[in-house]
Amino acid sequence: MLSYQHIYHAGNTADVHKHASLFTLLRHMLQKDKPLSYVETHAGRGLYPLASVEMQKTGEFNRGAGQLLNQRETWRNTALAPWLDWLYPYFRKDLYPGSPVLARDGLPPPHQLQLMELHPQEFSQLKRNLNAPNLHLHQRDGREGLPALSPPEPRRGLVLIDPSWEEKDDYHNIPRSVERCLQRWPNAVILIWYPLLAAARHPQLVQSIRRLQRPLLQQEWAWTEAPEGHGMYGSGWLLIHPPWGVEQPLAALLACLQQWKPDGESRQQWLIEPE
Ligand code: SAM
Repeated sequence: MLSYQHIYHAGNTADVHKHASLFTLLRHMLQKDKPLSYVETHAGRGLYPLASVEMQKTGEFNRGAGQLLNQRETWRNTALAPWLDWLYPYFRKDLYPGSPVLARDGLPPPHQLQLMELHPQEFSQLKRNLNAPNLHLHQRDGREGLPALSPPEPRRGLVLIDPSWEEKDDYHNIPRSVERCLQRWPNAVILIWYPLLAAARHPQLVQSIRRLQRPLLQQEWAWTEAPEGHGMYGSGWLLIHPPWGVEQPLAALLACLQQWKPDGESRQQWLIEPE
């Protein structure tokens, strides 16, 4: 059952963490002048209109990226600035760009993009919203699609795994998919985003990814106290095979986020250090 629609949550505080981290990581990887593959397993529709009924209904954007964009001057010359500067022209057009647009803008040919999305409506919107000669769109399950498309050409590359985590099986299926991907594409850089939920499912995910015994960097940012019930109180990611030196710009970014919401708690740590 696919009921999740990212449009209700686009540009929220979790997206700020995820998208600003992805932007920082890509920018770092682009310092090397070599073509990249970008693979995304759960792409969504790419572009989200701020005036849509869904975004207006939740107001999550206004408490997330919207707030930062309105205080853009405060963040000038900080680790957040490059992402906000890229975002701003979209904001002026009343749009919030998701990860596929971020990747498309950052990676013109000869870089290659492989984007998967399973939901028929999200997929047709994605097709409408994104067009580029180096863009390959697949309407398929990203969990089986990731190993099936591995290794892509070029082989140097980055995978983003950003499920809605509504399907409980994903805490088992995603690590399995990552393991199969790495068997075929041993040097893939893989960013896995996960929510911090009161139900505390993410430790199982972290444990399973850790078992793969690859260099592994983690960030977690809890911007509020864990609520009663099922709510999200923070955001985390795991980065397999972090490119050399990327931990510094990512840590600087996390420090900005912590400064933005000073009551929260954040940490970056190596779960498995590179040899
Ligand atoms: N990564 C996007 C971004 O940051 O802009 C947001 C993605 S959203 C969190 C998750 C998306 O995964 C939804 O659009 C949903 O329809 C899609 N989805 C759910 N299950 C899927 C699956 N098994 N394979 C591929 N896409 C799936």
